[in-house]
This record gives sequence, structure tokens and C-alpha cells, in this order.
Amino acid sequence: MEFETKAIHAGQESDPSTGAVIVPVFQTSTYQQDAIGKHKGYEYSRTGNPTRTALETCLAELEGGKYGLAFSSGLAATTAVFSLFGKGTHIVLGDDLYGGTYRLMEKVFTKWGISATYADVDTPGSFEEALTTKTRLIWIETPTNPLLKIIDIKHLAEVAKAARVLLAVDNTFASPYFQNPLGLGADIVVHSTTKYINGHSDVVGGAVVVNDEALYSELKFLQNAAGAVPGPWDCWLTLRGLKTLAVRMREHEKNAKCLAEFLAGHEKVAKVYYPGLAGTRDHEIAAVQMRGFGGMLSLEIVGDVAAVERFLSGLKVFLLAESLGGVESLVSHPAQMTHASMPEAERRKRGITDTLVRLSVGIENVEDLKADLENALRRI
Ligand SMILES: *Cc1c(COP(=O)(O)O)cnc(C)c1O
Repeated sequence: MEFETKAIHAGQESDPSTGAVIVPVFQTSTYQQDAIGKHKGYEYSRTGNPTRTALETCLAELEGGKYGLAFSSGLAATTAVFSLFGKGTHIVLGDDLYGGTYRLMEKVFTKWGISATYADVDTPGSFEEALTTKTRLIWIETPTNPLLKIIDIKHLAEVAKAARVLLAVDNTFASPYFQNPLGLGADIVVHSTTKYINGHSDVVGGAVVVNDEALYSELKFLQNAAGAVPGPWDCWLTLRGLKTLAVRMREHEKNAKCLAEFLAGHEKVAKVYYPGLAGTRDHEIAAVQMRGFGGMLSLEIVGDVAAVERFLSGLKVFLLAESLGGVESLVSHPAQMTHASMPEAERRKRGITDTLVRLSVGIENVEDLKADLENALRRI
């Protein structure tokens, strides 16, 4: 079955007791047992819930993986993955990544004796160089946040395999529609389902998908033992959003590509970061490992912070907000929003300047989006 069909049907058979076409919201915490230890596969909803199972099955199928696990947020999913490792171990992370992942590592996991090195994703060989005998995991995002850099997953999977460490890819920006890291050799895929997968800016959630059974068992244990599970309503809403992922992603990309080209030619824009623009190394890698370039783009405004503020206050359709991946277009200022938890020196080192603006291009009519940007840029 193809992607669009799986998104609508995988894990979502009609309800056997009623014929209901849509998986019900199983709003229950517990399940009656026929006898001690004799049950229908469910005992307690932290451990398992049928609505959650439907979502987990569908997500695994869409990522081309065997096992899916849903969490109460993307960071809860990340926490489960980092929790696979103990005191004295080492993790290598790409240096252009979600601010909350950086904060989780620096403020929580280092406290428990896990150390981290951030590899410069632009420097060939930087991941190899960062590996030590204590390293257990390489963690990357691609496309990265907020600079939309592309990391060669296949190459890094070979590096990880040779060093006998796991490779995890946060696939939130691409969504499974445009990229499947497991197929490129990664061991673990992580999502903030809050973003494209749910797609309607009304649920916070996360997921992990893997192929290896032993790894799945460990993660399933952590999901239950630490307990950061999503409720059935959130699973149901996410599943409903997921059904239209393919059609939404096609529109997101079409609009983003059009706006990236428009902005690249604008005198008030110093630089556009979008992997769909030809002529960069990032574009070449993206064209090989992705099936499309996504709906996220960043731009460097000509001028200073005051110019950025004038631009932001001039936007009417693009809403100033954190997050991304919903049907509505959003704009954010990484230095003061998503990456505010990163020290200024670290931000600068990573190229997250004060004039960098990030767009999550929605699926409104692209002419309205273009006009909105044009009006706001004129105010600079
Ligand atoms: C939002 C986001 C996260 C965190 O997910 P939450 O659902 O907000 O906890 C992790 N990685 C990326 C790339 C994100 O955009």
C-alpha cells in the first residue's frame, strides 16, 4: 500500500463490536480481566490503550518501521531515548537542533552523568571526531532547526555502525511523507507529532519508531515505567490529523517553494535558507534522501533587530507564534523564541543571528501569503 492509503487505514480497522469506521476514543484507564492475568491485551492505560495502539501502528507503518511508541510530547519521546543510556555514557548531537533538546541534554541529562558533544553539522568528519569509547548515541535533526541544513543520514548511519553506536534522527521537520530515516540506516526515528503529523496546532505529542525488537522492548519499558503517555483524545486527534498528512505536505511544500523563490529575489532579504533552492550542497543531499523539501524556511532580514520587529508587526496572515507544521502560517524569531534557552554565545556560534526569522509556511492561498510578506518587508 502507498503512503496516502496507509495514513488512512494502517492500524485503523473498523471497530469489531460496532462496525464504527473510525477508531473510537477509548476513554478508560483500566480493563476488566476474565481471570487474573487473563485479558484482551490491555490492563491499564499507561501501559496500553487501543486508541494509542492505532496511532502507534499507523506511525510505524508510515516510517517504514516495525514498532511505534506514542508519547505525551516530542520532548517526552526524546527523554525516553536519552534514558536508554546511563551514567558515564556519552552522546554526540548535531549542533543545529531544537532548543528544547539542547536544554534537556544540558540541564537534565548531564546532571545524571551523561555527557554530550555537539558536532558542527557543516564540517565533514565532525561527528567521527566527536566519538569516544563512551559514546552510545548520535542524535541529529535533518532538516535542522532553524537553519534548514541537511545532514547525509546514510553516511552518518555508516559512521554510527562502524563505531557500534545508535543513530537517532528527529524527523519532525521533514515528516514521514518526505523522509524515512530508518530506510537510510538510522536506528531510531523521533517525532514531535505536535507539528506536521497532527498538523492542526491543537495537540502536543511525540513518537518514537524503531525496527529492532530489543530496542523496542527497552523503549516500551521506559514509556510505561516513566509514564509520559498521551491520553486517548490526543491520540484520536493526532490520528485524524495524520490521515491528511500527504495532501497537507504537498501544499506546504508548494507554498514554501514559491515563497522561498520570492524572498530570495527580494532586496530586504539578505539570505534565504530552504533546502529546495538549487545551488547548495544541502540541496544536493536533500534531493537524494528526501522526497520533497518541506514547508519550513528561514530568512535573514536586511537591517537590525528593529527592522525585524517592524517586519513582524507588519504581518497579518503569518501569526507570530512558537511551533510549526500546522495548516496556518506562523512566523517566529528563533533568537528570542525557540532558541531563547540557548546561551547567546552558543546561538551566535551556530549562526542563529538576531535578524534570522523562521517561517512555517501554511496551506493558505500562496498569493495571500506572498502579499503579506511583501507588505511587511516594505515596512523595514
Ligand atoms: C517541537 C519540536 C520538538 C519538541 O516537541 P514537543 O512536542 O514540543 O515536546 C523536538 N524537535 C523538533 C524538531 C521540534 O520542532
